[in-house]
Amino acid sequence: MIVIMKQNATQDQVDHMIRRIRDLGLSPHIIQGTARVVIACVGDEHLKSPEQLAVGTGVDKVIPVLARYKIASREVKPEATVVPVGPGSLGGPRLGIIAGPCTVESRTMLLETAHAVKEAGAIGLRGGAFKPRTDPYAFQGLAEEGLGYLAEAREATGLAIVTEVVSSEQVPLVARYADVLQVGARNMQNFALLSAVGRTDRTILLKRGLSADFDEFLLAAEYILSQGNSRVILCERGIRTFEQYVRFTMPIASIPALKAATHLPVICDPSHAAGRADLVEPISRAAIAAGADGLIIEVHPDPENARIDGPQSLDLPAFARLVDSCRKVAEAVGRTL
Ligand code: PEP
Ligand code: MN
Repeated sequence: MIVIMKQNATQDQVDHMIRRIRDLGLSPHIIQGTARVVIACVGDEHLKSPEQLAVGTGVDKVIPVLARYKIASREVKPEATVVPVGPGSLGGPRLGIIAGPCTVESRTMLLETAHAVKEAGAIGLRGGAFKPRTDPYAFQGLAEEGLGYLAEAREATGLAIVTEVVSSEQVPLVARYADVLQVGARNMQNFALLSAVGRTDRTILLKRGLSADFDEFLLAAEYILSQGNSRVILCERGIRTFEQYVRFTMPIASIPALKAATHLPVICDPSHAAGRADLVEPISRAAIAAGADGLIIEVHPDPENARIDGPQSLDLPAFARLVDSCRKVAEAVGRTL
């Protein structure tokens, strides 16, 4: 349910409703709109009726929220949420691109990539220090050494650092270095991890699970939001289908569908979807045309020799060309980049 307060409701009346909602065993999440306060009531609403709250003074109306994802829903918050990404942001009229290698391989390659993507117009530097690998014998990342290089690259360029956290135990360590904590596709339903990142004050980049449906994706975001962290960015990175000519299938329709269902920013990862460098730019252009708020792109100074995900990585000049070509599409749909 959401409790919509009257425009002239006093702080005392809002506080009273917050206590009433808690007494009913629900947890209140305050959304401060421009004109009025809205309180989302989260919890098991079974056996609770809107009338129990509608009688409160200062309450305009109480409406049930149909979506199971309450805090994430546009029904509760019609205006777009702008989420910080280091000194920049995602979710406003200006699009943002996060770029960098799949994994941090060395200090030199990371710094070279960071300077190049910054120069081309990126707002964030990606790079995994902890990699969730399907194969237990594959390279798992440089761990804390890699986080140190990422922090150094931020110092050198001012780019926001986006890096993956693969387990709840690692959250405090990764949060010490990163501006944005990435929850990867394989962890989208790791509920302990979602709750742990929800208790931090970092921005969270949540990737769609390879086999997760639309509601499961939004409910995963809701896990984070329900812990009090409102800085969530959704990332469509492609889903598993019968197709073999791409690594995953990019469901372009999910971008406008997500944007309609939630106020959170939605970005696209064309690199993991395609698995092939030649498809990265066209998918990026399609995603922006479809309303994406940004992109996350794998970029490597020498894709042929990349330790992970070389075939889908753009080299530095190709990334600069992608930014220029996406800028034109952004302008065509009334955004800037
Ligand atoms: C990645 O970003 O390198 C990654 C492993 O992505 P995903 O979780 O989408 O597979
Ligand atoms: Mn990768």
